[in-house]
Amino acid sequence: MDADLAELFANNRRWADAMTAADAGFFADLAEHQAPRFCWVGCADSRVPANQIIGLYPGDVFVHRNVANLVVHTDLNCLSVLQYAIDVLQVEHVIVTGHYGCGGVQAALRDAKLGLIDNWLRHVQDVARDHAGELAAIDDDVARADRLCELNVMAQVANVVRTSIAHDAWARGQRLAVHGWIYSLDDGLLRDLDVSVDGLR
Ligand SMILES: [Zn+2]
Repeated sequence: MDADLAELFANNRRWADAMTAADAGFFADLAEHQAPRFCWVGCADSRVPANQIIGLYPGDVFVHRNVANLVVHTDLNCLSVLQYAIDVLQVEHVIVTGHYGCGGVQAALRDAKLGLIDNWLRHVQDVARDHAGELAAIDDDVARADRLCELNVMAQVANVVRTSIAHDAWARGQRLAVHGWIYSLDDGLLRDLDVSVDGLR
């Protein structure tokens, strides 16, 4: 096996050993069932790994990641994650987490031509179009892109809230809150964008 890949297996062996040393029943318990309280919708960016950032173990957070943390109403993949998390696992919190310096958001903003992904990033461009005036008023390129990262998270929170999945959960009295957070690559800290929704309006 390629040495780089062999190292991954070695890492895995060390990690599993350490987990078992700390809690002999850890894997056996998790193999039985999962009961995460959180569903994370985040960016696929390698620098924004869900569990590590929020200090959670396997079993604690149900994760969906795609480029630019989008919730698209025709994306069966993302909708299936939300439906399973909310209906079956009964998570109490869906957290959409974006990050500053997002390459997908930056590419959307400068209308980059990168291939198939351009079509996916159209959704971010839709958000930019909705806020064209505000974004045009920001002189600094980095600040403008970072503001679009925030606006994109807010738009995706609204998209989660508008799904039939969230509506049905609230209609049957299920406890569910949807949140929008943003992560800074510079200092490793999360910030709450204060756009949480916990019921039908
Ligand atoms: Zn990103």
